[in-house]
Amino acid sequence: MHLKRISDKRDADLVVEHPRRVSHVVVRHESKNGIWNVGHRTIDKGLAEGWLAMGAGKIVLKTAAGEPDVEYRILRAPGYYCVYCGAPVDATKRGLTAAGKAHMATHAGETLASFSAAGKLPKPLADLSQHEIDQINNPSGYAKFNDFRCERIP
Ligand SMILES: [Zn+2]
Repeated sequence: MHLKRISDKRDADLVVEHPRRVSHVVVRHESKNGIWNVGHRTIDKGLAEGWLAMGAGKIVLKTAAGEPDVEYRILRAPGYYCVYCGAPVDATKRGLTAAGKAHMATHAGETLASFSAAGKLPKPLADLSQHEIDQINNPSGYAKFNDFRCERIP
């Protein structure tokens, strides 16, 4: 995703310590699969500058006057998730809680090979990124995601 922030010209002389006044954004590029992984920094900046809104499971990008806003559905919020089934997992910085351990025990013995054999991979093995393979091979079975995974609403 590539966004260009468009400033309101009337506010061009504002002092530096105030958030930049941005009237809207122009979405220059979106991924072909409609997925946008967006981090806290972008979201915080968008909220502070007024070109992004968040709520009801959606992120809305404010575009130019007269144009429809660009909307994304939030598929996954930041947090700890099971790499086998994608379910949220109860964990902290120190590790799994009792509930988290109980969940991971349900996946005992699962590996990339067993996943592939059982047809449980999210996409064909050859299409998995190294990051996805690393996650599935993650011996702890869970991973922390710091970003929001979003899907474009047509
Ligand atoms: Zn699971």
